Amino acid sequence: MSTADIMNMKPSQTRNKIIAHVDLDAFFVSVEELLNPSLRGKPVVVGGNPFGRGVVSAASYAARKFGVHAGMPSSQARRLCPRAIFLRGSHGIYSQYSSQVMEVLGRFTPAMEQVSVDEAYLDLTGCQRLHKAGAVEIAQRIHHAVHAETGLPASIGVGAGRIVAKIAANAAKPNGMMVINPGREAAFLAPLPIGKMPGIGPVSQREYMKLGIRRIGDLSQFKPEILRQIFGKHGAAMARRAQGEDGGHVDFSTGTEGRSGSQSVSREVTYSTDTGDPGRVRATVSYLAESVGRRVRKTGLVFDTVTLKLRRASFATVTRSRALSRTSDDTSVIYQAACDMLEPLLTGSRERVRLVGVGVRAMEKKPEQMDLFLMEQEARIEAVHRSMDQARDKYGFESALMARSILHGRG
Ligand SMILES: [Mg+2]
Repeated sequence: MSTADIMNMKPSQTRNKIIAHVDLDAFFVSVEELLNPSLRGKPVVVGGNPFGRGVVSAASYAARKFGVHAGMPSSQARRLCPRAIFLRGSHGIYSQYSSQVMEVLGRFTPAMEQVSVDEAYLDLTGCQRLHKAGAVEIAQRIHHAVHAETGLPASIGVGAGRIVAKIAANAAKPNGMMVINPGREAAFLAPLPIGKMPGIGPVSQREYMKLGIRRIGDLSQFKPEILRQIFGKHGAAMARRAQGEDGGHVDFSTGTEGRSGSQSVSREVTYSTDTGDPGRVRATVSYLAESVGRRVRKTGLVFDTVTLKLRRASFATVTRSRALSRTSDDTSVIYQAACDMLEPLLTGSRERVRLVGVGVRAMEKKPEQMDLFLMEQEARIEAVHRSMDQARDKYGFESALMARSILHGRG
């Protein structure tokens, strides 16, 4: 990739933003290799028991050559690569390394947004003067500092927007750096398969394929209005992204990235054997709603969207989201919304259920004026959940459960 002069211009010479996306390579595996160097270069899989029902959470590049990837059932990974070394992983250690990396990144710019345990966006606009260097050189220093201080390999993408920076970081993997100059976004994106576009998962990928849209370039040929008619807001946004338009604010419809200031709080359960009992699934939803609600209240947040995830025995996964008319921190609101979304899924298929997940999009509470009558009503409901939370502080989460959740633990 050429690194033309524009990235090295002084901020006064260009109106473009300069965004770097830093993403650690095979993060969990890289930490395991640091702790045990004899694992280097070998097929290593971090994740569930290969003889059980868990899912791969990270695979080394050597394991990926066999087709193993994150999100795949561990038993399938074992079939694809019987020689792989399976590790259970230690999230405590991973989060220590994650904090170290974020600390290094935070030294380069105050405008940093961590989006997951191993990924962050850095706004380098205007940092050239501070570092007495151009953006490309700053990114090189970041790359070097992460490796020198933590021992972990990372990949960095640099561009005028977040989407392009993220895709560039991905294309640079492993242990690489890629810079996309302003104005070159569409040309860079065009030949890539549409699955490389953040926000287009396997399901929407198939829908786009039906229209003959295979590459990001095909997507950019469509008028946003047409894609809006077919795919709604999501389609229009993807068409604009394909043309390299970013808008600066990213609203990923999937994954851990939300609108600025929001975060996702979610819990999920994989049954030890798939269940065909709708009552049990409802009980699990209630249990998970309580757990998520508890987390939201404990962190002083509120939520405005509820998400339900259901994975069937065939591994087909459905997610449904519902935006609420106003924010809440109430467990019964989560439960009600999740149940409304659950019922059509239960009646729509007789297939057994493998996994259930419940989540919310949470954000800081804003002081808002509320109807007095509603406040009284809510205060009563809140008091119930608050006293349950207090019992849990003393005796553990399961010490206080709504009756409808109890069945979850049975069978
Ligand atoms: Mg990563």
